[in-house]
This record gives sequence, C-alpha cells and structure tokens, in this order.
Amino acid sequence: MNRRHFLQTAGAGSLALASGLTSCAPRYRNIAGHPMHRVPKLKLSLDRIVKETVGLRPFRASGPRIAKEALGNKTIVHNYGHGGSGWSLSWGTGNLARELVMTTGEKKVAVLGSGTVGLATARLLQEKGCEVTIYTKDLPPNVTSNLATGTWSPASRVCDPKVATPEFQAVWEAATRFSFRRFQFMLGLDDIAAWVDEYNVFPAKPINPSNPALGGEVYHLDGLVPKSQEINRRDHSFGADFVTWRSNMMFNIPSYLHHQMSTFIMLGGKLQVHEIKRLEDIDALPERCVVNCMGLGAKEIFNDAELTPVSGQLACLIPQSEVTYKLITKGANIIARKDGIYLGGNGLVGNWDTTPKREYTQEWVDIIQQVMQEMRS
Ligand SMILES: Cc1cc2nc3c(=O)[nH]c(=O)nc-3n(C[C@H](O)[C@H](O)[C@H](O)COP(=O)(O)OP(=O)(O)OC[C@H]3O[C@@H](n4cnc5c(N)ncnc54)[C@H](O)[C@@H]3O)c2cc1C
Repeated sequence: MNRRHFLQTAGAGSLALASGLTSCAPRYRNIAGHPMHRVPKLKLSLDRIVKETVGLRPFRASGPRIAKEALGNKTIVHNYGHGGSGWSLSWGTGNLARELVMTTGEKKVAVLGSGTVGLATARLLQEKGCEVTIYTKDLPPNVTSNLATGTWSPASRVCDPKVATPEFQAVWEAATRFSFRRFQFMLGLDDIAAWVDEYNVFPAKPINPSNPALGGEVYHLDGLVPKSQEINRRDHSFGADFVTWRSNMMFNIPSYLHHQMSTFIMLGGKLQVHEIKRLEDIDALPERCVVNCMGLGAKEIFNDAELTPVSGQLACLIPQSEVTYKLITKGANIIARKDGIYLGGNGLVGNWDTTPKREYTQEWVDIIQQVMQEMRS
C-alpha cells in the first residue's frame, strides 16, 4: 500500500469512526477489519493473588462534610467523609476547603491526615503560599486511601441521594469539575493518572444502572468523561449480549501517593506522625487554622454519628503488562493497574471488620473466569 492509499484508507476509517459515534451500532474496526475491542485475557487463579485487603470507605448519607467551625480560638475546616469517591473528589473538595481557609487570613495551617484528601488539600494550600504542617496518625501505605480501586468515580457511594440536599449536589458538581481539570494536568506524569478502556459486560441490560455494585454512581455530569456506548457483538470478543465501552481515568495509587508526599515535602511542607486522641490535642497545635482530613478517624474526635464505614475488599493479582483495562460485570469487577490487577466488588455498610474473606475472592475469581472463558479468541 502506498502512502496516499494508506492516508485515504485511514481517512475513511476516521469517518466511519466519527459516524459510528452518532449511530446506535458503531463499528470500531482496525485497518485489517478486525474488531477494535479485542481484550487480552486475564491469567486468573487463586495462586496468582498476592494480596487481599479490606478498606473502609468513610460514608456520610448527606455527603462529605466541607464546613468551617470555631473551636476555642481555632478555626476548624472540615474535609472528610468522601465514601467511595475520595480519590476522585480530593482536589475538588480540597479546593473548597482551601477557600474556607483563605477566609481566615491565616498562612500557617495544620492539616490532619495524610490520605489522598489531606495530601491534595495540603498541596493546594501550598499553592496559595501557606506554610503547611500535616499531623497524621499513620502514613501511606497505612491509610484507607491506599486500599482503594483507583478510578475516576466522583459519585460512587458519595451520599444517599434521598438524604443529600440539592445544595450538596451543587457542591459536588463544583468539586467534580475542579478535580477533573486538575487530573488532566497529571496525565503523563509517571503514569500516576491515565485514561483506560472501561467495559461493562452483562448478559442483559442492567435494570438499575446506578447500583454501586454494578459500578453505578448516584450523580452524573455530562461533558467530562466520554459517554458509555453499547458495542455490537461482532465488534468485541466477549461472549455476553450487553457490552458497553467508554474511556475512564485510572489512578496508580502507590505512585500517586508517593508523588503527592514528595511534592509536598519538596515545596517545604512539614509532616509529623501525631495522633489526635481528643479535641484538646487539636487545641494544643501551634497553628490557628486546622483542616480536618481524618476520613473515618473524624468520627470519634468530632462525634459525627452520620459517618459510617462501607467496607470494600480487594484481591490483587500479579500484573500483566498487556492487560490495561477495567471490566465491570454482575457481582465482580477488575481494574488493571501498574502494581497489580485488582478484583473486587463489594460494599458492606456499617462493617468495621478489615479481615479479608477468602470466599469473596474465590467468588470474584469464578465470575471473572467465566467471562474470560466465554471470550472468543
Ligand atoms: C475498596 C475501596 C475502593 C475504592 N475505590 C475508589 C475509587 O475507585 N475511586 C475513588 O475516588 N475512591 C475510591 N475509594 C474511596 C477512597 O479510597 C476514600 O474516599 C478515600 O481514601 C478517603 O480519603 P481520606 O484521605 O479522607 O481518608 P484516609 O485515606 O483514611 O486518610 C485519613 C488520614 O487521617 C489520619 N487519621 C485518622 N485518624 C486520625 C487521628 N485520630 N489523628 C491523626 N490522624 C488521623 C490517617 O492516619 C490518615 O492519614 C475506595 C475505597 C475503598 C475502601
């Protein structure tokens, strides 16, 4: 094929792709005519599981608490309770917390907690010239944030929409937009944030697509992540009748946390391992403005009856370099990160037990195994 012919073929291909976006049965084929969605199979067996963890999502039915209150002669700015959305919303709620800090005029600020929310908030405060000290009970990797799946999911278990107010939805929207923009500036930086293919693979169209167990979310915002598209059976290699695809963002959690910590230190931030056991410990800190990013740890200190754990187990398979996608199916999902391929899918409300249960892992291995076996090679 000469160069001109190649360009013409490629041009026709792009036109087909563009028209496919508006038709209900898009045809994504590569230049050789093969279906575009040929997904590499996972090597799945229990002996490839190298780690099982249970993390506790800090859930509040009314949504994360972003608020300012006076405590003696200190100002406390709260930024906690992000449920299953803390990674995604960290920059956005960090920005809202920063705005509340700025109203105090204080430049020396304490941040409690070094999870994804505390680190993002601390970094944003530094960008406004604040001298920030993080006080934290534990450092990464011993934080809940290190036990997350790591995808863009800004409305996953973020609130109970029957309880949350329309005002909260507006706050969520502002936070989501800010976070989304911020993540676009992290793309290409040591693979800490990346766009990947996300597939939903079901025997039939799910009746309740907002069910979190099926990867569903409570709110939606158009214009950020591309919309999911149903793909025709002949254009993918799955055995299922209902398959959708979209691009979504993924976070490589260990390198992301490392990046955040090192940048914070590089910009002059200070970090102290220091547990807050009671309100008096906050009062004893030298800073007059304190941002509370303690996640579930805020429950006892601030007597927040609404804050509840929603536990989530993950099982980590040895990574496969060719597997880079996310897949959601009935009862299980997988996400391929650089450090491993994570299987999961549960959320137990009110469960404080962080002991992994082998039976969940076994169930997910069986479910995903079946999806792999039904795939055409
Ligand atoms: C299985 C699972 C999957 C998830 N998947 C995703 C996902 O794909 N995308 C997404 O956006 N979110 C996801 N999440 C949610 C996300 O992980 C959380 O919302 C987020 O980690 C909360 O961050 P945080 O910084 O508030 O809390 P944490 O990470 O818990 O950090 C809290 C910090 O406060 C410190 N602290 C606590 N108590 C005290 C104290 N008394 N004194 C001093 N310091 C204290 C801790 O040591 C820690 O440093 C998932 C969560 C789980 C469990």
